Amino acid sequence: MKMDYLVRDIKLAPSGHLKIDWVKEHMPVLNEIRKEFEKTKPFAGKRIAVSIHLEAKTAYLGKVLKAGGADVAITGSNPLSTQDDVAAALVEDGLKVFAWYNATTEEYFDHLGKVLDTEPDIVIDDGGDLVNMLHNEKTHLLPKIIGGCEETTTGVLRLRAMEKEGLLKFPMIAVNDAYCKYLFDNRYGTGESVWTGIMRTTNLIVAGKTVVVAGYGWCGKGIAMKAKGLGAKVIVTEIDPIKAIEAHMDGFTVLPMDEAAKYGDVFITVTGCKDVIRGRHYKVMKNGALLANAGHFDVEINKPELLEGAKGKRVVRQNIEEFEMPDGRKIYLLAEGRLVNLAAGDGHPAEIMDMSFALQALSAKYILEEGKKLEKKVYRVPEEIDKKVAEIKLNSMDTSIDKLTPEQEEYLYGWKHGE
Ligand code: NAD
Ligand code: SAH
Repeated sequence: MKMDYLVRDIKLAPSGHLKIDWVKEHMPVLNEIRKEFEKTKPFAGKRIAVSIHLEAKTAYLGKVLKAGGADVAITGSNPLSTQDDVAAALVEDGLKVFAWYNATTEEYFDHLGKVLDTEPDIVIDDGGDLVNMLHNEKTHLLPKIIGGCEETTTGVLRLRAMEKEGLLKFPMIAVNDAYCKYLFDNRYGTGESVWTGIMRTTNLIVAGKTVVVAGYGWCGKGIAMKAKGLGAKVIVTEIDPIKAIEAHMDGFTVLPMDEAAKYGDVFITVTGCKDVIRGRHYKVMKNGALLANAGHFDVEINKPELLEGAKGKRVVRQNIEEFEMPDGRKIYLLAEGRLVNLAAGDGHPAEIMDMSFALQALSAKYILEEGKKLEKKVYRVPEEIDKKVAEIKLNSMDTSIDKLTPEQEEYLYGWKHGE
């Protein structure tokens, strides 16, 4: 018999159910979509493979897809962000679950493979691991795939690179690029959850510290804004002159990392790039410097060079490794340099993932309905879907906005103003 799940301990399910019930109360948009899906069953007879950080909000997305008639197979998108109790609860809820916390690299890819072996029609990915595996190892599954959706910035960049080289084998929706995604998830979600992760992991104060934020994209803006709100002095490093001007005009000090490395008490990388903090930077850092990453992948902070330059390493607290330098300085790495908000926290708050995952659910429905007509390209989320999510969210926040009068509409969008 084919195993329908691989989780650490199915007996953990009760606490997982409680976590899912809690987030569900704070995800009004997804609740609305679930009700719609329960009636219309858009995914009846279809299989969906999901790889997103397997914690309670993702679990609820899985349940909503199932409520829409889909046969859902799910795994995590980072070995340290899976929550074993949530994974167990989802098995009881009838999903095919392959994931556990702290999976080895081999286990992590085995879990991804098992999800794909369910022969999905649609894939929902976060960072590109599922899509990559489909294009390289599991090409025999490609003919059945209608298309998919990608959750994050780096995943979308990779897909665009594949499309440019003519390698993409099915249409993908760039969920990350919807307004209701990056403006809220990347900025406010990352901004808040990165600090929640750092503060609960270190139990140290932020006020008065010098925080270096590497990358002033949507995530970096959120992290820097919250750092300022917490009373930190903020330095930003960038490679893009326009982003650097934005950071400067937002009131932050802009420096190259070679300089910033000397001043920071806390360093947060969120660039999607590699080696942003590396060997020569560790040499000039202050004693006690804390290093955290919030970008894709665990290569933004160069770990091999940190280890190479150190005379010793030990775990000093859960999710904190201490590296002792030859001159006695100590540098601390949080969550193994993996996404600190998810590996050492629960990730973005429920109200934020409500919008991101509503976009995922509606984009999956869109790809099912329209996928066969689309080219093997990366597409934006249709404007109507973005608007629908925004409208339901605004209603749920008990907030309303003005409506244009016919005269205003003519004035704004017409051209015969003087007549
Ligand atoms: P973005 O493209 O808006 O911003 C990235 C910024 O980093 C850009 O301004 C770019 O110029 C800058 N940059 C690139 N290389 C750099 C370098 N070497 N030094 C300094 N700056 C550099 O992307 P984003 O939406 O802010 O996402 C950033 C990363 O975070 C991506 O990998 C994304 O997938 C990931 N992400 C993580 C979370 C999370 O929950 N932790 C949430 C959303 C996105
Ligand atoms: N596999 C990559 C993925 C980058 S994750 C890696 O591990 O580096 C970045 C994505 O995580 C964001 O786009 C965001 O939407 C998502 N995310 C943040 N908080 C989350 C949460 N609580 N649950 C599920 N996904 C979350």
